Amino acid sequence: MAFQNTQHKRPVGPASKHLQNLRRRDFLSGAALVDGQWVSGGERDRVIDPATGQEIADVARCGSSEMETAVAAAERSSPAWRELLPASRGAILRNWASLMLEHEEELAILVTSEQGKPLAEARQEIAYGAGFLEWFAAEGERAYGETIPSHKVGSLLHVRMQPIGVAAAITPWNFPIAMITRKAGAALAAGCPIIVKPAPETPLSALALARLAEQAGLPRGVFQVLVGNPIELSKPLLSDTRIRALSFTGSTEVGRLLLKAAAENVKKVSLELGGHAPFLVFDDAGLEKAVSGAMAAKFATSGQDCLAANRIYVQRRVYDAFIEQLGARIAQLRMGHGLEPTTDIGPMTKLSVAEKCRSHIDDAVNKGARVLSPQHGASLGPNFVPPTLLSDVTEDMLIAHEETFGPVAAVLPFDSEEEVIARANASEMGLAGYVYTDNLRRALRLSGRIECGMLGINTASFTGPPIPFGGWKQSGLGREGSRHGLAEFMELKYVCFGDLAA
Ligand code: NAD
Repeated sequence: MAFQNTQHKRPVGPASKHLQNLRRRDFLSGAALVDGQWVSGGERDRVIDPATGQEIADVARCGSSEMETAVAAAERSSPAWRELLPASRGAILRNWASLMLEHEEELAILVTSEQGKPLAEARQEIAYGAGFLEWFAAEGERAYGETIPSHKVGSLLHVRMQPIGVAAAITPWNFPIAMITRKAGAALAAGCPIIVKPAPETPLSALALARLAEQAGLPRGVFQVLVGNPIELSKPLLSDTRIRALSFTGSTEVGRLLLKAAAENVKKVSLELGGHAPFLVFDDAGLEKAVSGAMAAKFATSGQDCLAANRIYVQRRVYDAFIEQLGARIAQLRMGHGLEPTTDIGPMTKLSVAEKCRSHIDDAVNKGARVLSPQHGASLGPNFVPPTLLSDVTEDMLIAHEETFGPVAAVLPFDSEEEVIARANASEMGLAGYVYTDNLRRALRLSGRIECGMLGINTASFTGPPIPFGGWKQSGLGREGSRHGLAEFMELKYVCFGDLAA
């Protein structure tokens, strides 16, 4: 293990001007936080700007020995952290949130430089991410137990909520800040130390959060961030019985693997996995609002969002008008480097995601769909996918069955309510859904019948700290955010006080 490397690489490319001007030079050191030490590692991994393919920094490569140190440190830190009053833990979480907001611009630049999203969206993510720390700071004080009317003479029945123990988080690259604070805020407020393994594509955001966590006063070992090979780092997290809870956000495929491995020692697992959201537009809906909703639900985070509308079903009477309006709005989107102020759509963070988008478009076109949007900008680089409108999509096309995770809007016509409910529910995914209708009775009916964990009726904007975020079916297990998010890191303990009769 080596400590505090200050000789980090000078960033190159369009991100360099922004990164070189960061006030917090330590945000670029690439050192991991293990047992209160900043570990630079012998070997380093490159961090790439997905817009240009250029290296912008390098970071420590932690391995199983650093993970062993981290697990032991977390275990040591656990008793003191769980004994702190919830209000004292909350005060530290609030400090951390304030520091995030104080450094909003610098964190946003890191996010855009390594993830690719437009800077305005990155700024929103910092505020969204800080919101989880503030929410859980307060929610920790409301981890109420229960008193149960007794079924036994002379006894008192209590249910206590207690921290589960050391937790681990494996987080994705599409929200490299908010997915960490959503998990860490809940775990820490519940009284659990947490070890975070971020996605290798976006380590700088996670390591900057660790700098601010330390500054906020989180004690040694309570919050640790290790970067490196996902499999090498995850293996001990899964097999070590000292890790009592694992929270994962990412693909369903990897979620399944983690769930299987965690079953070996019956670890508590919460999973936020893939989505394939249906977006239903009825012919009684306000069309302009539905088009604006579809734009937001499809193109936020350049389409790399598990809530993204992957199947836009439009009732036949308004289908052509909807396509025309959506096409006009898509034609106005500007693609480019996320640090350019005019950019609406950035690059895909991973080449594999861009390739999946292109394969979905090709498959749909080969089966009869029409591309109704200008395909400018593909020459910007291999990770760029022009915002695309696909009309006349049918259920036999890949895009109707698989999550695309990119800026491709697939629009399918439908005739009746019964038919579209069946089509919307014909998926193994069930994360989010959207319904646009001005018919109140229909809205109420559909709120019960769409199979998903989160449903927006006449809105595409519904996330935030107070809501239980999570999916049905193979979209996941458990919930994040809200009071339910806290419960993922707590155990119930039933206590029976007997022999109380005088
Ligand atoms: P991914 O599952 O490959 O990666 C997610 C995380 O898992 C990363 O930290 C990665 O390093 C790690 N990982 C990958 N393989 C691993 C392994 N074998 N063992 C242990 N860890 C491993 O996901 P991706 O393809 O990079 O991201 C896109 C997917 O994530 C999409 O399908 C999307 O829907 C999903 N996602 C879901 C949510 C949600 O809230 N439900 C949020 C973001 C992304």
